[in-house]
Amino acid sequence: MNILMLGAPGSGKGTQSELLCDKKAFIHLSTGDLFRKNISGETELGLLAKSYINQGYLVPDDVTNKMVQVFLKSESDNLIFDGYPRTIDQAIELDIMLRTYDKSLSHVIYLDIDNSVLLDRIVNRLVCPTCKRSYHKITRRPLVENICDFDSTNLIVREDDTLDKVNQRLLTYNTQTKPLIEFYKDRLIKINANNKRPEELFAIISEALGI
Ligand code: AMP
Repeated sequence: MNILMLGAPGSGKGTQSELLCDKKAFIHLSTGDLFRKNISGETELGLLAKSYINQGYLVPDDVTNKMVQVFLKSESDNLIFDGYPRTIDQAIELDIMLRTYDKSLSHVIYLDIDNSVLLDRIVNRLVCPTCKRSYHKITRRPLVENICDFDSTNLIVREDDTLDKVNQRLLTYNTQTKPLIEFYKDRLIKINANNKRPEELFAIISEALGI
């Protein structure tokens, strides 16, 4: 079973993907995380991706698809796609790539959430660069200030989580990614993600997936 987590930046895709991997043994494929890994490793791909990411734009489809193609060579089933596909062209390409492994996307979980909640979450977000867990500076603080509860790594603020970049990211989402809701309507599970704790949302998602 391959699942896509679809939703705006800050909707909780990453957190829910991590929970599905921790508790239900899925494999996490986050294109954002793969780009950040390349950026910190200062690879050629990282340098290219950085110029787009830091402006709130999408990395070009051919570059992103290629990176996913490489990932799929090692894993092509039980995947949680987090932040990929983000355009119709990527969705078409993913379908082709999965078909070569006799696989497909079986469910698309769409986390629907209000804009005001997204902004608050993103500008207050702290992330653990090791385990990728997210915290909120006010409502979901770590036990020790700025330290991850799970692996004691120093928490960071993502470079693209600043107010000026968030507005462009939301615009990019609305224009380029939202059309996927219609594209995947045959397998879409729409979930109201407002006012829900991560554990609560996880229970709803698990039930909807029947897992
Ligand atoms: P995320 O961690 O999913 O919020 O992604 C961070 C940034 O990485 C995005 O704002 C994009 O600039 C880039 N990115 C992640 N996934 C994709 C994708 N599927 N296509 C193009 N750019 C992406």
